[in-house]
Amino acid sequence: MTAETASPDSAEEAPHAKETRGFQTEAKKLLKLMINSLYSNKEVFLRELISNASDAIDRLRFEALADESLIADDPDFRIVVDFDKEAGTVSVADNGVGMSRDDVVANLGTIAKSGTEEFFDRLTGEEQADSALIGQFGVGFYSSFIVAKEVEVLTRRAGEAAGTRWVSSGEEDFTVETVADVPRGTRVTLSLRGDATEFADGFRLRSVIRQYSDHVGIPVMMAKEGGDDGDEEAAPELETVNEAKALWTRSRTDISDDEYKAFYKHVSHDFEDPAVWSHNKVEGKLEYTSLLYVPKRAPFDLYNREAPRGLKLYVQRVFIMDEAEQFLPLYLRFIRGVVDSSDLPLNVSREILQSDERIRTIKNALTKRVLDMLGKMDADAYAEIWDEFGQVLKEGIGEDFANKDDVLGLLRFASTESADSAQRTSLKDYIGRMKEGADKVYYLIAESDAAARQSPHLEAFRARGIEVLLLSDRIDEWWMSFAGEFDGKTFQDVARGELDLGEPEAAEKEEDEKEVEDEEPLLKRFKDALGDQVESVRKSTRLTDSPACLVLGEHDMGIQMRRIMEATGQSAPESKPHLEVNLRHPLIGHLNREVDEDRFADLVAIIFDQASLAEGNTVAEPGKYVQRVNKLLLDLLS
Ligand code: ADP
Ligand code: MG
Repeated sequence: MTAETASPDSAEEAPHAKETRGFQTEAKKLLKLMINSLYSNKEVFLRELISNASDAIDRLRFEALADESLIADDPDFRIVVDFDKEAGTVSVADNGVGMSRDDVVANLGTIAKSGTEEFFDRLTGEEQADSALIGQFGVGFYSSFIVAKEVEVLTRRAGEAAGTRWVSSGEEDFTVETVADVPRGTRVTLSLRGDATEFADGFRLRSVIRQYSDHVGIPVMMAKEGGDDGDEEAAPELETVNEAKALWTRSRTDISDDEYKAFYKHVSHDFEDPAVWSHNKVEGKLEYTSLLYVPKRAPFDLYNREAPRGLKLYVQRVFIMDEAEQFLPLYLRFIRGVVDSSDLPLNVSREILQSDERIRTIKNALTKRVLDMLGKMDADAYAEIWDEFGQVLKEGIGEDFANKDDVLGLLRFASTESADSAQRTSLKDYIGRMKEGADKVYYLIAESDAAARQSPHLEAFRARGIEVLLLSDRIDEWWMSFAGEFDGKTFQDVARGELDLGEPEAAEKEEDEKEVEDEEPLLKRFKDALGDQVESVRKSTRLTDSPACLVLGEHDMGIQMRRIMEATGQSAPESKPHLEVNLRHPLIGHLNREVDEDRFADLVAIIFDQASLAEGNTVAEPGKYVQRVNKLLLDLLS
């Protein structure tokens, strides 16, 4: 190849000059990790390079819709894989869109993915744990360095005259220089490491291509076998090695699970297999094909609602755009895949997608398909999906009224039914265990699972053998406000309003005898001592073991919503709890006989603070609380 080497002491600030650039710190770390952790999975480099080549061709095909001249010189899209046994090299070349010099520096020197920072924060420095993480991050172009001691990229952007040569050994830095006479597209050439020379072999390369890249809709070609390398004068005859038919256009029965999985890795840039997928062709008024995947693991930016998401959109097999987010609701942003429509125009834009009635119809259908696919998963596999994506699915209850019941059906909860919070229950199972005639689904929202399990609000339910769902996600209070009912049962927060649970079971009744009689004066003394810290003080039917608890008014804002509002700089409406007092508790009996008003006020203040602590909240004035308790301890000890 002819390199136009700019003279190093050239006077003008030459944009063509060869320069050496350092890798971005993150890119360097990723490179090192990758080389150390993927040695048992070396062949993934070929999948990644072919995947990039195919993306580049898709992009050029799309650009050529508007400007045919971009491909006039070489209209037959293809990917060519070549090798040289003696030199120990393998190359992957495409005639796709290519890269400008700036593109090269940006794309092959940094990691532009969202979530990069979070990813590196999670690295432990421990090789084993870190290697597991890297798969989630996706490996991409840098996987070349698993097998290569040096990589050369020769590329020319379609429509530009000059090409760029990039060379690196994948350690500290790379060089870039502008070169002439580069064919359109990109050729990546790997100089194999000593332990990877097996790949400079036609048989090996063909088998890897068939295994990983059969689904690529573009011919992946290699020189015909037999000519025995040697002479390079005549261009060797090429043959297509892969199936070269876009996977989703084939019939379901012809596609193996391995092919579906390989295609998933291509569209998602994920390194792991998908959990499940659904492939459908719809004919009729609207014609489209969709292939939707549920990943096994959440991406790093799952909770960033602005992060890129969505499906790859094709129109009549022509790639139109990545991340078409109009085909699924936000709460299903973790779904990956493609949708190929026969009805949309090739020049469809994001703006058109936004307002097109046909898109809305497809979106509704795909949403149902995803919910259906999740609902049909076997319990164990779904439990893992729930752990990854459950919090995001909950958003659907507030955002997708039409499918609220289906989304509710997908929710899983920790519950008093099992002491193990990892053992989750569905609403259907909860309702199945309900007593005859019961009509409420009881739930408790707390700051953490541990706080929920220790909450005094559960006492009455325990005494009556009634199951309570335990919620501790940040958004639980929010979505619950939209839940309404499920299967004819309404939801009831156990920490809200007055409870009517009926009589407790017989054993508890004897204790009633110890109950404080003539409770009104005592409750009034409580209220006077607490002043306007509480809305009211009343007799509790909730408690068996605790002396008191705090209860919210039916429509008051709970602690989670308050925190969310504060975090977003809004002020939450003022509301005070009700204090419920357990008149059967011995402590309350003693208090009733306390004649020293100061001491009474101190004790009531302690009980009030403790009711807050018991729910996992803080007390308003911790210093005062400690002083009061210490005073009591001193009385006790002296
Ligand atoms: P990803 O494919 O997930 O974006 P990669 O690490 O595989 O990440 O590639 C990084 C970027 O480099 C790509 O997004 C693309 O812009 C560019 N790139 C890589 N290979 C090619 C190629 N063959 N042709 C054009 N651009 C490429
Ligand atoms: Mg890639």
